[in-house]
Amino acid sequence: MKNYLILFFSLVLLSSCEENNSNEINIYSKRHYQVDIKQYENFEKLTGIKVNVIKAGDDELLERLKNEGQNSPADLFVTVDAGKLQKGVEMGLFQKIQNETIDSNVSVDLKDINGYWIPITYRARLVVYSNERVKESELSSYEDLANEKWKGRLLVRSSSNAYNQALMSSLYANLGEEMVTEWSTKVVNNFARDPKGNDRDQVKAIAAGQGDIAIVNSYYIGLLLSSEKQAEVDAGNSVSVFFPNQADNERGAHINISGFAMTKNAPNKENAIKLLEYLTGEEAQNTYVNNSYEYPANPKVKPSEIVQSWGDFKRDKLDLNALGIFREKAIKVFDNTGWK
Ligand code: FE
Repeated sequence: MKNYLILFFSLVLLSSCEENNSNEINIYSKRHYQVDIKQYENFEKLTGIKVNVIKAGDDELLERLKNEGQNSPADLFVTVDAGKLQKGVEMGLFQKIQNETIDSNVSVDLKDINGYWIPITYRARLVVYSNERVKESELSSYEDLANEKWKGRLLVRSSSNAYNQALMSSLYANLGEEMVTEWSTKVVNNFARDPKGNDRDQVKAIAAGQGDIAIVNSYYIGLLLSSEKQAEVDAGNSVSVFFPNQADNERGAHINISGFAMTKNAPNKENAIKLLEYLTGEEAQNTYVNNSYEYPANPKVKPSEIVQSWGDFKRDKLDLNALGIFREKAIKVFDNTGWK
């Protein structure tokens, strides 16, 4: 009997230890960058907490969270679009994150005004132009991409892409349906070719003379310039970076964030908070900027040298949740104006 009792109490002790000191975190990730693996390994070395990652598309992961409900093993969801984070909030999948360290680590204007998601990096969707065929003085704003002078010269990927949907959502929120529909019609008219390929392919097309300007995410230029493939470095060097809407009276360039949200029933909440403290801290922020060429969410950290060489820019202060709120409307604009 005595032996049974000892066994029983040791089992109780063991299971309660497991509950309070779990040694892992489960992340559902839309991000697919090498740098993330490095970050999680560094965190594991520092804390002994194992980071497990399941990767898939963001709509797929949100659906999975919804279906798993209270039994989901996921603690955190991470993606590259505030719009998809907003969608998850709307679906009731997340809980608010309140933590002083995280809060003081990130720039105020990148934060979720409702307190659900945490930005770790941001990126601008900007214009690049051919060094041979375009002068910087010819460029000004996203609105100006509708100008006839760009006829047959503008390169951009398909409207099914989340980056374009976020850009169109921001324009819709800022300009309204009528103006944005007219803008999109004229922009489609200026296309150098039917949309195809990813952001890097648009830059390569400029280098190959298939168009003169392109709409791309900022970090892809850093990735091209630091590539091991000479053709990619050459493509990166064939263009210059331009931040739209920078004049005094203008709203600034469209940005989006990479960010984390905590699931409603996160089984390893304390560990998840520790990870977010780490990822928004200076060490991990430096790792992000020097590997992915994104901008840091922590204002104490400087972007990579390549990215710094483009100079500072003014970012659009639109509430980033608008990138989710206006998405359906933005998709209708694409459909109505023939942006494939
Ligand atoms: Fe990307």
